This record gives sequence, C-alpha cells and structure tokens, in this order.
Amino acid sequence: TPQLTIIGGGLAGCEAAWQAAELGIDVCLLEMKPIQFSPAHHSEGLAELVCSNSLRGTGMNNAVGCLKEELRRANCLFMQAADATAVPAGGALAVDREAFSDWVGNKIAAHSHITLMREEVTTLPEQGPVIIASGPLTSPTLATQIAQITGEESLYFYDAIAPIITADSIDFSVAWRASRYDKGDADYVNCPMNKEQYQAFVAELIAADKVPAHNFEKMIHFEGCMPIEEMAERGEQTLAFGPMKPVGLPDPRTGKEPYAVIQLRQDNRHATSYNIVGFQTKLTYPEQRRIFRTIPGLEKAEFERLGSVHRNTFINAPRCLNGRLQLTSDPRLYFAGQITGVEGYVESAACGYLAGLIAASDLLGKTLPLPAAVTACGALLGHLRDSDPDHFQPQNVNYGLFPPLEGRKMKRALRRLAMADRALEAWEQWLQQLKGVFHDA
Ligand code: FAD
Repeated sequence: TPQLTIIGGGLAGCEAAWQAAELGIDVCLLEMKPIQFSPAHHSEGLAELVCSNSLRGTGMNNAVGCLKEELRRANCLFMQAADATAVPAGGALAVDREAFSDWVGNKIAAHSHITLMREEVTTLPEQGPVIIASGPLTSPTLATQIAQITGEESLYFYDAIAPIITADSIDFSVAWRASRYDKGDADYVNCPMNKEQYQAFVAELIAADKVPAHNFEKMIHFEGCMPIEEMAERGEQTLAFGPMKPVGLPDPRTGKEPYAVIQLRQDNRHATSYNIVGFQTKLTYPEQRRIFRTIPGLEKAEFERLGSVHRNTFINAPRCLNGRLQLTSDPRLYFAGQITGVEGYVESAACGYLAGLIAASDLLGKTLPLPAAVTACGALLGHLRDSDPDHFQPQNVNYGLFPPLEGRKMKRALRRLAMADRALEAWEQWLQQLKGVFHDA
C-alpha cells in the first residue's frame, strides 16, 4: 500500500491522516508530545485546542460558519468530533476540549491504516511523500530544517496582522487615493489627521486595553512587526515619523501635507478590502473598533479582520507553495495547517483536510480537482496561492477572501448570505466530483 508520513498530530495533521487513511493510504503520524511540548501545548492528547474552546460562530453571516458547514458536509473528522462533543455556546460552536481531543485520538488509534508514533521529528524523511503539519509552534530543530528547504527569508516566527477594512465602508469625501510622491498608480488610500487629532489618537493608543501576551511571546524582537501602541509609547512623534508619516502625500483638498497620514493598502485581488499599513496591534478587539473609527475617513469602517501580533511559525506560501499545498522546489513535501499561513482551528483543520485529499490522490495516481474559488475552502487556498508574497500574513477565513458577487449592490448582511449560498452550492458540486474521482478507492 502507498505510504504517507505526517508530521504533527494537531488539528491539521489528524484531519489529513484521517482523510488519507480513509482512502486506503497507510499513514505514519508522528507527534512529539509527550516527549516534547510546545510552550502552549499541555496535554498528551492529539488535536489539542491550545486556547479557547470555541470554534467560533455558526451563522452564515460569518465566513467561518460557511467553512464549518463545508467541512461538515464533507464528513471531516474535525466536525464530527466537534458535533459529538459540543457544549452550549449561544451562536457559536464550542466543545469540551478534553472530550474533543479524546474523540479524535480514539478514531486515529482505531484506524487500521494509521500508525501513530510519539517522537520529535528533527530531520525531514528523505523519501516518500510527507505532510508537514507541525503548527504555529513547530519545534525549533524542525523549524531550522524547514528554513533550509524554503529559504530563511520565507519562514517567519511572528505574525504582524493589521486590521482589514471593507473598501465600501471608507469615506472617500475625506480619504483619497495616492502613492507617496505620486509614485505608482495611486495604490494607497490615505486618511489625513491634523495635529490635535494625531495627539488625541496617540493618547488613545497608549491608554487602550491590550491583550496580555503569553509568557513565551514576551521576548519578541520587534523588527517590522512592532505593535503601533508600542511605537506610540516610545514617544509622541514616533508614529508621525513611522507608519503615519505624511511626507509626499498632500491632501488634494488643501494642497498641503497633513500633520499625519494613515495609509491603507489593497488587501485582496478584488480590491474589496484594504489593510491599515503598519497597524499590527495587541489592542483588544473592541478598542480597535473604537479607536480606529476615530481616524478621519474611517468613521464607518467595517472590519473584515482585526489586528494582532502572535508567536506564529509560518511559511510564505504564495512564494514557496504551488497552489496544491506542495513545496514548488520539492513537491514530495506538502504543508498543512497554520504553518501554511491560514489562521485558526477551523481553518487549520480545513487545510489538513485538503492536504490529506491532495496527497492521497497524488499517491493513488488520481487527479483531484480543487474546490472552486467561491467556496470557503477555495478561498483559503486562494489566499495561500494568490496573496502578494511581499506582504504575506496569516488570515482567518473571511468573506473578503471570496470573489465578489456579480450584479447589483446589496446590504452587507444579505451579501454575506448570498456568498454562503453560492459557496455551498459549488461545494455540493465538488463533493459529487470527488465521488467520481475516488469511486474505486
Ligand atoms: P497544532 O494544532 O499546533 O498541531 C501541531 C502539532 O505538531 C502539535 O501537536 C505539536 O506538538 C506537533 N509538533 C510540533 N513540532 C513537531 C515535531 N518536530 N515533531 C513532531 N511533532 C511536532 N486558533 C483559534 O481558532 N482559536 C484560538 O483560541 C487559538 N488560540 C491560539 C493560542 C496560541 C497560543 C496559539 C499558538 C495558536 C492559537 N490558535 C487559535 C491558532 C491555531 O488555530 C491553532 O494553533 C491550531 O491548533 C493550529 O493547528 P495546526 O494543526 O496547524 O497546529
């Protein structure tokens, strides 16, 4: 029987193992716990939820609701475990984390095609297909190996996530499009601040509530990823000389450079979302919404994603991977889970699902069609394939990653529901195709 090695028995690794094993592939799943623990993992079990026990919203108004529904319809192990161990959580899906981990662990242990071995992988296997699913806290020795195969400049140890705003919520009677010194094609959206607004903004950043850092995150060397509130604390002018510098950006209504400028950069292919340049932050979400809406032009901002900074090992997927989760320079190696640059429990499991199917179909000599770009899984793959490699950062699934709807304008809530309908319809078609591909497997 064809063989597949999977490194990491977390959310992505277990899902990938299950999918491949169900297709008759012999899987060797390597997990370093309990011999070695990452700074956030504490239990011996597989598929450990290291922080919250919530798998987030169930409604289709949130793209993660749509992603979960896709995974549920595809009979993913992750969703079976979640539904079997759910606890009451209002509009969210939350689970009993130990029961969840046990449920997954029992399924993996009982599968005749899966061999689980508890060892830390320090050298990548030299032969056979391998899925690397070692997560955001990949052990340091393995991370060094990965850096060797991807190139050091393509492996990161921290993310630096700036908030993303929907383009149609920006007030263009205040903001304007231009590049600094008129270079480029007016690629940025600019929001002006006068001196009083700037000083008040800096004071708000300093006073705002922040998310406490985990112990192992405190020694961050902030290079190019320093949170804006830390820059604000360094001195009142730090931001005005940093991400908020106004030089070369005259306001077209006055002809003069404002005191400070906040710049937004196009974030998706479809130009429906923009991120605030240099605004990675550890402010709490409510504080981000409140304070960033004081920026002139962003008073009605709708946030597609809020900012953060975490310890997070991930590769520059659009630079290194080939669109099918394989390393371009060595397609024997597949990547899955958070290490690819998806973010979140559900997204990591979804990525493991796709990697498991892709690797299994390659081993079986079958051609697996990828899910359509309009599906939530397709949108995640699109993020890993089509993002700008010069500014690649991990993302949760969100409707900004989906192709926009054609036709008439709709209210945001309706638009989201229509996108979910479109996704699930395309998903059903894809599941039918899968049956055709694997009918004799
Ligand atoms: P993991 O689930 O971490 O699995 C990777 C596995 O690989 C681990 O079991 C690890 O022990 C093993 N491993 C690592 N190196 C080796 C090696 N060399 N050899 C063998 N095994 C190895 N997402 C959310 O949606 N909600 C949250 O609340 C949330 N909180 C988070 C908190 C922290 C501190 C971190 C770091 C991440 C958090 N995430 C959260 C993000 C992410 O969704 C989870 O980390 C998720 O578990 C990632 O899934 P994964 O399968 O990619 O990695």
